[in-house]
Amino acid sequence: MSKRYGLVVDLERCIGCHTCTMACKVENDIELGSWIHVGTIGGDGMDTAGGRFPDLRMHYQPTPCMHCAQPPCIDACPLGAIYRRDDGIVLVDRDRCDGCEICLSACPYEVLHLDPATNLVGKCSLCSHRVDQGLEPFCVICCETEALHFGDLADPESEVSKLVAAKSAFVLLPEQGTGPAVHYIPPMAPRGLP
Ligand code: SF4
Repeated sequence: MSKRYGLVVDLERCIGCHTCTMACKVENDIELGSWIHVGTIGGDGMDTAGGRFPDLRMHYQPTPCMHCAQPPCIDACPLGAIYRRDDGIVLVDRDRCDGCEICLSACPYEVLHLDPATNLVGKCSLCSHRVDQGLEPFCVICCETEALHFGDLADPESEVSKLVAAKSAFVLLPEQGTGPAVHYIPPMAPRGLP
């Protein structure tokens, strides 16, 4: 059976510390926050809650490339510079990319980024260079709260598959039909008032 590598992001555990973005920068030598960013879901600004007191809501959401099963970025690239491996990881071939940026608007998750240093498009590679050595993506091992989980979604016995099933995990923009390999465990419900 072929593999389908992906992530489970536990929004109950994410505290918005941005360690994953720093880990990604260090491991891949890219601009901070360009391959994975941590957004505040709630108010209009970073670290701000939405709603009206006392009914306030806020959580954090790390967003990398979704490593889609049907990736619109691949169809959009006129040079065939984006491809999907047999294990589900979607990669940009920098030898083919010419930085035309057509793919940027094709991705519904807005996770492709033009690297100003190289003028080429980059995005989360799921640390394929580490995965090929039997290691986990660097953001996963650096996450202090263990909010990020990596594994084979095609294996029903894997930790990620069990988390998806047990925690009613969801994907972003399911209506786009892209088949994301990044699943999210819903954030904790607000605590009740005394
Ligand atoms: Fe492509 Fe965007 Fe899907 Fe990643 S999330 S595979 S960049 S369409």
